[in-house]
Amino acid sequence: MSLNKQSGNMYPFVTHTRNPIRDHCPHQCTHCYMKKFRVGNLRLEEKEFTTNLGNSNLIFIGSSTDIWATEVLSEWIRKLLEYTENYNNTYLFQTKNPIERLSLYVTGY
Ligand code: SF4
Repeated sequence: MSLNKQSGNMYPFVTHTRNPIRDHCPHQCTHCYMKKFRVGNLRLEEKEFTTNLGNSNLIFIGSSTDIWATEVLSEWIRKLLEYTENYNNTYLFQTKNPIERLSLYVTGY
């Protein structure tokens, strides 16, 4: 479905953004840019797993929610990571759970 060309100015080195896990972010930060959008429940968008991610891109995955939040199902994260491994890109992840969640996947999931 969608591999979005980067349009913001937060990370100028990013070429694309991608949000297969989307909608309600559990953190609800007061400054979040997503607050201006009406979103539903946190969910995995299955259609995202037909997207050609290309190659040599720098893709920010999870630009609209924290995909490493405690509320995100482990199987969603595993599916997302396995899919991204099929493409020769560089991926940027950002989280408020670097120790509790992200480190588990970096060390092998
Ligand atoms: S963690 Fe990021 S996406 Fe989630 S509410 Fe905070 S600013 Fe928004």
